[in-house]
Order: sequence, then structure tokens, then C-alpha cells
Amino acid sequence: MEKINFTAGPSILPKEVFAEMAQGVIDYNGSGLSLLEVSHRGPAFTAIIQEAIQLVKDLLKLPSQYEVLYMMGGASTQFPLIPYNLLPIDGVAGYVDTGTWSTKAIKAAKVFGDVDVCASSEDDQFKFIPKDFKVDPEWAYFHLTSNNTIAGTQLHQVPDSGDVPIVIDMSSDIFSKKIENIEQYGMIYASAQKNLGPSGATLVIIDKNLLGKTNRNIPEIFDYQKHIAKDSVLNTPAVFAIWGCMLTLRWIKKTGFKKIEKDNLKKAELLYAELDNNPLFFPRIKAVEDRSIMNVTFDIKRNELEKTFMVFCENHGVVGIKGHRSVGGFRASLYNAMPVEGVEKLVKLLQDFTWRFG
Ligand SMILES: *Cc1c(COP(=O)(O)O)cnc(C)c1O
Repeated sequence: MEKINFTAGPSILPKEVFAEMAQGVIDYNGSGLSLLEVSHRGPAFTAIIQEAIQLVKDLLKLPSQYEVLYMMGGASTQFPLIPYNLLPIDGVAGYVDTGTWSTKAIKAAKVFGDVDVCASSEDDQFKFIPKDFKVDPEWAYFHLTSNNTIAGTQLHQVPDSGDVPIVIDMSSDIFSKKIENIEQYGMIYASAQKNLGPSGATLVIIDKNLLGKTNRNIPEIFDYQKHIAKDSVLNTPAVFAIWGCMLTLRWIKKTGFKKIEKDNLKKAELLYAELDNNPLFFPRIKAVEDRSIMNVTFDIKRNELEKTFMVFCENHGVVGIKGHRSVGGFRASLYNAMPVEGVEKLVKLLQDFTWRFG
């Protein structure tokens, strides 16, 4: 049976991306060689990484001061690299704590310097996005997380930070819609494995004018400037993952942000509408304006039925709805590649289960 996969990451990608990768692992473009056995400095991979960079520039209409990098180590490795590269030894960086991933980013930054956590929703289990805080014009940068993959909240209105560049973790909602007002960002970063490609690559978009100002002695491999100088091939890059990103970016370009955003909104509306009205299930995030359209977290009123519902879904080909181990309950991830019909099927299962057990 074909499965509908709501996993949070690594997660679904467009079917045509899987098909093309499967072919190219065996025989890349009729070359008689797998893409996985050729040099990362040869013509095949050079064309791939160049297109993967160019597609990001085109899709976001990036002004010329921005550089696009593909790095390794996931968004988690960016947590320390950001202060290493952007926070002067005697400087201060501002952070908003909106959940597990921002908490980790804050912890890593504190190793490098002064961190001002200007707002946090920790006291309410990260169930809302704090909006009441002040941006200090002295901050070297202001760090935000655009979508909280585990809690199920999303920043729908990016705050005005004046001249302080925003550094934002977009791991779980990048390319889910058009990015407005690109020049407010000093840096955008994202692990690939949610909306962009296979795990192993990390997309970094950075304003190069912010670099080289920290007075720190940075080892080459941790230095954004060195990666920029070598067009993301400073050392052996994540060949397979970057190739998957390139193919997914082609799909995003072909599909267009208009349709992608429209479908994403429709999927989220379908699921939240059911959860708001269902007598047995309920959405975890009550603050409607902060609800994520990518990761919908929900719970069941009768806890003893949690496992039963999971098995019920699996029996009907719906997988990956178990909530993150740190928070429990359920989570349905509605990334770009999830078709509207997949969500319709989940809604139907919620209704059927409620009819039988509610
Ligand atoms: C998944 C995720 C991360 C961590 O990604 P890794 O690739 O595991 O390092 C960081 N931030 C957000 C918002 C995420 O969703």
C-alpha cells in the first residue's frame, strides 16, 4: 500500500525528485557512472552545485550582497557558527526563545559571548510566539526561529528590527511561501531535510558585508568567508543531499510560490478546522495567529486511545504522526510535497476514529 507520510524530517519530497535520484544513483545522465562515485570537483557535480546556488538566488531574488552556501552539520552546527562568525568578542546578540531549537541556538551562542534573551514563551511550554520585546540597536544581530517544528508555532509577522540584522532559522518552513522583505535578514539558514531535500545539506544565505568583523581567529572550516571563496566546495560537500536540493528547487520553481503557498494554507486550514470542531481531538496551539501551517500539533482527550489512533492510522497507510518525543501527542507535518489529498485522508481518519471511539 502507498503510504502518506507526515513525518517531521527527514520527510517527504516530490515524487519526481525521488524518481530522478533513484535513476542517477545507478547511472547519472547516461554517463555509465553513479553520481555518487564521481569527483565533487568534476563537471557533473559542479553543474549541480552551481544550479543549486543559482536557483536560490533566483527564487528569492537575492540582492548582490547575499551569498548562498551549502554546508554540512545541519542547522545545529549553525547554532555555534553564527556567533563564531557574527558576534564580536565584546558584542551582544539578541535572541527570542520560542522552543527547543531556539533554546539550543541560545545555549551555543552563550559559549561565544553575551546573549540577551529578550523574550521567551518557555513558561507556557512554547505554545505562543512572544511579541512584546525591545530590539537593542547595539546588538550584533537578532536571532529568530521562523517555525517551531516541535511546538507547532510559526512566526507569521517578522518584527521590525531597525538596523539590526535578523538571523533566522527557517529549517522547517523555508520555501513554503514567498519570503517578504528579504533585506531585513542578515542571514537565513535551514537544514535541508524538511522542505528542501535529503538530510546532509544545510542552506545558508548570508549578507557578506556582515562578515570578518568579529576579531576572532576562526579555523578555516568554520569560517563563512572561506566557504564563500570556494563556492561551497571548501572540502567534500554533501553531494547526494545537494543534488536532492537542486532537484527540489527545480520543482519549487516549476510549481511557483503562489501555488505552493495556496496549497499549504489549504492543507493547514483543513486540518485545524477539523481539530477545532472534533469532540475527541484538539489542537495544541490555541493562539490561532501563532499556529504553524507546516507542523500541526494536536492531542486526544482520552489519552488511553493515543496508541490506538496511531495504529488505526498506520492500518490506513497514514504514518509519521507521532509527536516529538519531548512533547508527546501527535504532529502532522504538511511540508510542500504533501498533497492536499493526503491531508483530506488524515481528516477523514480523525472523523472515522471519533465516530468509533469518541
Ligand atoms: C530540524 C530543525 C533543526 C535541527 O536540524 P539538524 O539538521 O538536525 O541539525 C533546527 N532548527 C529547526 C527549526 C528545525 O526544524
